[in-house]
Amino acid sequence: MKYYDKLIFEISRPGRVGYSLPKNWSTDNGQQSTDKPDGSLSIVNCQLSIPKVLLRETPAELPEVSELDVVRHYTNVSNKNFGVETGFYPLGSCTMKYNPKINEEIAHHPAFSGLHPLQSEESVQGALAIYYHTARALSELTGLADFTLTPFAGAHGELTGLMVMRQYHLLRGDTKRTRVIVPDSAHGTNPASAAVCGLEIVEVKSTANGTVDTNDLKGLLDDTIAGIMMTNPNTLGIYETQVVEIARLVHEAGGLLYYDGANLNPMLGASRPGDMGFDIMHINLHKTFSTPHGGGGPGSGPVGVAAHLVDCLPNPRVTFADGKYKVESGKMKDESCGRVAAFMGNFGVVMKAYTYILSLGKGIKHVGPIATLNANYVKESLRDAYYLPVDTVCKHEFVFDGLADKSTGVTTLDIAKRLLDYGYHAPTIYFPLLFHQSIMIEPTETESKETLDDFIDIMHRVAEEALSDPDMVKSAPHTTPVRRLDETTAAKNPLLKYRDLI
Ligand SMILES: *Cc1c(COP(=O)(O)O)cnc(C)c1O
Repeated sequence: MKYYDKLIFEISRPGRVGYSLPKNWSTDNGQQSTDKPDGSLSIVNCQLSIPKVLLRETPAELPEVSELDVVRHYTNVSNKNFGVETGFYPLGSCTMKYNPKINEEIAHHPAFSGLHPLQSEESVQGALAIYYHTARALSELTGLADFTLTPFAGAHGELTGLMVMRQYHLLRGDTKRTRVIVPDSAHGTNPASAAVCGLEIVEVKSTANGTVDTNDLKGLLDDTIAGIMMTNPNTLGIYETQVVEIARLVHEAGGLLYYDGANLNPMLGASRPGDMGFDIMHINLHKTFSTPHGGGGPGSGPVGVAAHLVDCLPNPRVTFADGKYKVESGKMKDESCGRVAAFMGNFGVVMKAYTYILSLGKGIKHVGPIATLNANYVKESLRDAYYLPVDTVCKHEFVFDGLADKSTGVTTLDIAKRLLDYGYHAPTIYFPLLFHQSIMIEPTETESKETLDDFIDIMHRVAEEALSDPDMVKSAPHTTPVRRLDETTAAKNPLLKYRDLI
């Protein structure tokens, strides 16, 4: 291991510094700094402007390194990272599309990034206009009446949407509706959000072709059902062709339809959840509307509702009247489901989404069809080597159930690890839970045919290696800085502090 590849604490040497301040420099509060006899600089005097009670008693245990050590260390660490800007990232269900740089430039413009959430309404009219018009654009794209942009993530949007659903029933005095139907193919956040919202989960089965079983659904509908949560296309990337009939059945039984819009990408400009009969939905701005994500954020999960639910949306809301944008937050409307976030949510992510929508313009209608074409191209090109459990035209993603030839003992995990040796991010594996060896691939619309052909080649090569040298595939990866990790220990008992290591 190279010296500067170690932990930054391990390359620390006493007294080594990465800065030099002028002798006798003057601090903000007029104190002079002093040079210590050993030549290092004491900045003790600057601390005098900080109340004594807040000062640490012992020096912070920071690494002592030169500027060059720091630059090399972090440059090397960053090179070990993998992102959509490093290579193809076919992580199913996550929509790892390229995020245009112009989004960042606009979001980081000081006129926006320098705003303070407590500024007066008059001084942030431009930001409120963006907030308001982003909501209008999302309404147009989804066919729903209004949006709140405050939830911080997809799962947070689900919780907010379910709070709206519950509030709607409670306002009508319909207190019996405490159960929500979730398909067995649903993303794990769906039942989790329903549980957090205090709702009981009822599972509806899928048919052999991967869509919701309407016969099973009919048997579940009664006056205790608050609604159904659906993803369309579902987590297998398959379009729910019965959605209009499902909407009719659920509405007839007095329930509402929730749309998990994390899979909105293939629908953009092609069809609208509101037109399919959905009452409530969330959008993952960080997936469909191109904000870098992974590693936990930042995200944004706007929630949209049909006209009859607008009053149940959370506060605060941005309204427009008499040429002025206003934040309605002080007086909570009685009908509102409450408040779900501090201030206005992740405004920077909203800015990126708005920039993305405006810069694509009418071109946004090509997003869904190209994402769909790319997924079907990869699927059809690999069907000889990988097992396709549901064989139909997919939308933006699809699922293989491991290799077609099961005799080698090579698993989905082995394939995912071997792809790392070839410089690819692994697809999503072992999700959805409907199959034992799920490999879920989502190429997105931003990849060229050349990139897809390269990936298809590598996937074929791995399938061949599984036959010719299965042990080599089972022991992959061979070229990464670390090999197979103990993922259970890493998840359950992570060592996050340098001190814990020694
Ligand atoms: C990503 C995803 C979610 C959750 O979104 P987060 O922003 O990660 O909370 C929910 N449902 C589906 C189908 C998803 O793909």
